[in-house]
Amino acid sequence: MSTIATNIAKVGTRIREAAQAVARDPDEVQLLAVSKTQPASAIRLANEAGQWDFGENYLQEALEKQADLRDLSLTWHFIGPIQSNKTKLIAEHFDWVHSVDRLKIAQRLSDQRPPELPPLNVCLQVNVSGEGSKSGCDPQEATALANEIASLPNLRLRGLMAIPEPTDDLAKQRAAFAHLRQLQSKIDLELDTLSMGMSQDLEAAIAEGATWVRVGTALFGARDYSLQPGSASPSA
Ligand SMILES: *Cc1c(COP(=O)(O)O)cnc(C)c1O
Repeated sequence: MSTIATNIAKVGTRIREAAQAVARDPDEVQLLAVSKTQPASAIRLANEAGQWDFGENYLQEALEKQADLRDLSLTWHFIGPIQSNKTKLIAEHFDWVHSVDRLKIAQRLSDQRPPELPPLNVCLQVNVSGEGSKSGCDPQEATALANEIASLPNLRLRGLMAIPEPTDDLAKQRAAFAHLRQLQSKIDLELDTLSMGMSQDLEAAIAEGATWVRVGTALFGARDYSLQPGSASPSA
């Protein structure tokens, strides 16, 4: 068995135990394998171990790997910050976008979604950690933005996403995820997704209702950013 297959099994056990600890059905929690900076060969190994959903942060890198992996019917999730000049390729090449945090980006994704593809699944990213983090809308704007995004024709708003500031304090982890869950519960739309939790804090996220946990390091090991296409310098 490959290391990646072993890691997938271990993370699967963590997910199951975390769900059972709060009497949730483990099948409500899906694993998104975050493959940024990892080669296509690592994605192939993960797929051989039964993983179909992959998350990428950098468009160019993702497109290269998608081309390499065309023979597999993988489901691709864009989870990184989005500049408006990247929306067209994202709308064309992904099944999900977790990191929509403003209306202009949502409108462009909807306008640019090819008509022959199903609506693009999106999550609204909310900044639940205040000043420390740059990405995500203001929690006070979440309801209004969610309603506007839900009205766009070629998007399907599935729920909210957050990347809280990292902390080892389990109570603080849970408080941030609970904040996202509470925001979601105030939105009067049919939402079925809470994208929250990563390698370090997936247990807390599952305890607070996560339906996607986005896991990179615990599956693939530490990332080596110098191998990325377009990275500034190999010594960086
Ligand atoms: C990199 C990344 C992850 C995975 O983080 P790990 O700590 O490696 O599990 C999850 N979500 C987003 C948005 C990321 O950028």
